[in-house]
Amino acid sequence: MKYCKRCLYPENHPLNLTFDAEGVCSGCRVHEEKDVLDWEERKEKLRSLLTEFRSRSRSLHDCIIPVSGGRDSYFIVHTIKHEFGMNPLLVNYNKHYNTRMGIRNLAYLQSLLGCDIFTQTASPSIVKKVTRESLRQLGSMYWHCLAGGTVFPVQIAVKFKIPLIIWGAHQGNDQVGMFSHLDEVEMTRKYRKDHDLMGMEAEDLVRNSKELTLADMEPFLYPHDNEIRSVGVRGIYLNNYIRWDSKAQHEKMIAAYGYETSVQQRTFDTYNDVDSFHYSGIHDHIKFLKWGYGKVSDHASREIRLKRLTRAEGIALVRQYQDRKPEDLDLFLKWAEISEDQFWQWIDRHRDPRIWQKDPSGQWQLLDSVIHHEHDQGVDAVRLPRQEPCHFQLNPPRDPNAVEDKYILIGRGWVDQNE
Ligand SMILES: [Zn+2]
Repeated sequence: MKYCKRCLYPENHPLNLTFDAEGVCSGCRVHEEKDVLDWEERKEKLRSLLTEFRSRSRSLHDCIIPVSGGRDSYFIVHTIKHEFGMNPLLVNYNKHYNTRMGIRNLAYLQSLLGCDIFTQTASPSIVKKVTRESLRQLGSMYWHCLAGGTVFPVQIAVKFKIPLIIWGAHQGNDQVGMFSHLDEVEMTRKYRKDHDLMGMEAEDLVRNSKELTLADMEPFLYPHDNEIRSVGVRGIYLNNYIRWDSKAQHEKMIAAYGYETSVQQRTFDTYNDVDSFHYSGIHDHIKFLKWGYGKVSDHASREIRLKRLTRAEGIALVRQYQDRKPEDLDLFLKWAEISEDQFWQWIDRHRDPRIWQKDPSGQWQLLDSVIHHEHDQGVDAVRLPRQEPCHFQLNPPRDPNAVEDKYILIGRGWVDQNE
């Protein structure tokens, strides 16, 4: 397997990347733009774009922001509301795998930033069916979260005629350099299908299923092109206008609002996915079993590019985390009502043969890993200097006695600040 000489990405990255003559990946090259673009100018460009929507919209809400109890939600809402003076409507697809901490983060987000929120909770029995199908057909337990999370904001935009949706970072741009920041790429149905949904729309999932009907899939169906056109729905990505640094952004939000953080099972980043039982657990283990690398490679590559980790330090972190067995499998199997044997059978079907092979005794062997490529020829020539330390904070939880042992399907949506 070929690995980038600067970050840790392999050539079989599912979003696709390319390598230049120096062996540096397209993600690293586009990332260099972060240090050369005039971000003040780009921010002004965003300001005038937002102004256009503010004046055009007849609704009380000027834009829609998809949020969760983790990731970049606080930063996006804070920036759009306080820095740009917009009045966003928050929308949240209930992913069903919620931790208490995630529900708390979401409640405080809404309360401290004073926003209205819509939450979509699809029928749990249908979500379970959809999840069994997506595991079988794609080896994914997260398809419903991705499909629901990317479509619910568009459905609300159409329904309430609020034409602007504001997303955080575009993964195709931030991870693999599919586009330049200057392309100002916007949300499309096609990118969602090809990349977010791994090529599988709701209609495709139903077509190959004995269990599901199209009527079950309403929370996952993209609105018709005509509806999108008549409202003029656009989805923009903030990382095209603001120099994206997820770690620094989270730290500002921890200081300003007490955003809660948590140790993650399979990565060193304590900020990103604290709202989900599985994202950094079994879901990430599945990613490793499919592609031969996990979230820790994503996080370390990001920190290498931002000059907070050396490549060798990143590789040490991969060595530490990538094989770690997650502890949340039983919880998921019980919820999804499937046996462990069935689960592994579905996952094994989706292993990438470029990186996994079965040996004669029937055991899966990982053919390569970036941990064997620390000293590849050409690595020194493209190395970035480490300029600051890479320390991830762990702030004390708001509720130190809360036990995280079961999903919180839906929590109280508000917080009384006198409590
Ligand atoms: Zn790279």
